[in-house]
Amino acid sequence: MKKALVCGAGGFIGGHLVKRLKKEGFWVRAVDLKQNEFTVSQADEFIIGDLTDPLLVQKVLNLRFTEVYQLAADMGGAGYIFSGENDANVMHNSATINLNIANQSVKAGVEKIFYSSSACIYPAYNQLDPENPNCAEDSVYPAAPDSDYGWEKLFSERLFLAYHRNYDLNVRIARFHNIFGPEGTWTGGREKSPAAICRKVAEAQNGGEIEIWGDGKQTRSFLYIDECLEAVRRLMNSEFTGPVNIGSEEMVTINELAQMTIALSGKKLSIRHVDGPLGVRGRRSDNRLIYEKLQWTPSAPLKTGLADTYEWVSQQVMKAGTAEYSNTRAIAV
Ligand code: NAD
Repeated sequence: MKKALVCGAGGFIGGHLVKRLKKEGFWVRAVDLKQNEFTVSQADEFIIGDLTDPLLVQKVLNLRFTEVYQLAADMGGAGYIFSGENDANVMHNSATINLNIANQSVKAGVEKIFYSSSACIYPAYNQLDPENPNCAEDSVYPAAPDSDYGWEKLFSERLFLAYHRNYDLNVRIARFHNIFGPEGTWTGGREKSPAAICRKVAEAQNGGEIEIWGDGKQTRSFLYIDECLEAVRRLMNSEFTGPVNIGSEEMVTINELAQMTIALSGKKLSIRHVDGPLGVRGRRSDNRLIYEKLQWTPSAPLKTGLADTYEWVSQQVMKAGTAEYSNTRAIAV
């Protein structure tokens, strides 16, 4: 039986990935600091532990895995990554996890390993024009990510590629661009813009307003979780190492994202722009390489996934039974 290890399985993408791997017939071991907040994991085993500890990594890699998915990272939305307050933890924790996992994967004879990098590795100087960001895979050097989160991701891409060259570690690397969907963090400071906007809209009274950080003219592209997992599985089943973008080319401004969400809610709401930490001015996935290598492209427009996500976040808001979280949190990544 094919055996998979999902590191970071208590998180958003990891939780969905476990479901997908189970559907495909894998035996799955999950590991994370915590269980999933919003769902009961379908993993065959769930180990709670800290992957910055090399002994824990040795323990979780004590089987011969067909596939390992390394998704564990100290991360969050703009409110977490761009405040500057978490930089040392983000770099230390995520780099240590990756150093441990790359090293132990060779010793444990892992057959194939997936590493989740990020669009945040792309140079800030290529993302100044909101209409024309450049996120082609080969535009990454000279390197100038706009956050220490991005620098760590770039370091760890290089780490896995070095293990590939020197120790034949069979790696696949993807750069995710704003993955969203149900069962993701929607409050508390680590949430990303789609979930944060859905929450604000769900909490707002008809005729009221929601707050957006910045002028809302910054652009992004967002990819629904199921589409992301389809691309990840295709990459793992291919002979292509990457790094390759996994994202959508449908670019919207944050104002447009908010308007789409408001329309889905059926409410009449206005937008108020306030100061807050922001990422680059424009960012959009460039899917030419993934299309060429894997013939993959998203199957549905942003609006489809956003409708599901709004529905799910609204239910969470109703369950929480309060509007107390309201307008104070993150908007753009
Ligand atoms: P997430 O925060 O929901 O999941 C990450 C998980 O890693 C969390 O459950 C966390 O508890 C776990 N983790 C952190 N430190 C750990 C440690 N020391 N030991 C064990 N577990 C630990 O994030 P996500 O959105 O599911 O993202 C998954 C991966 O994809 C991350 O590496 C992230 O950087 C990358 N990524 C995500 C996006 C996105 O839009 N969601 C975009 C780019 C890259």
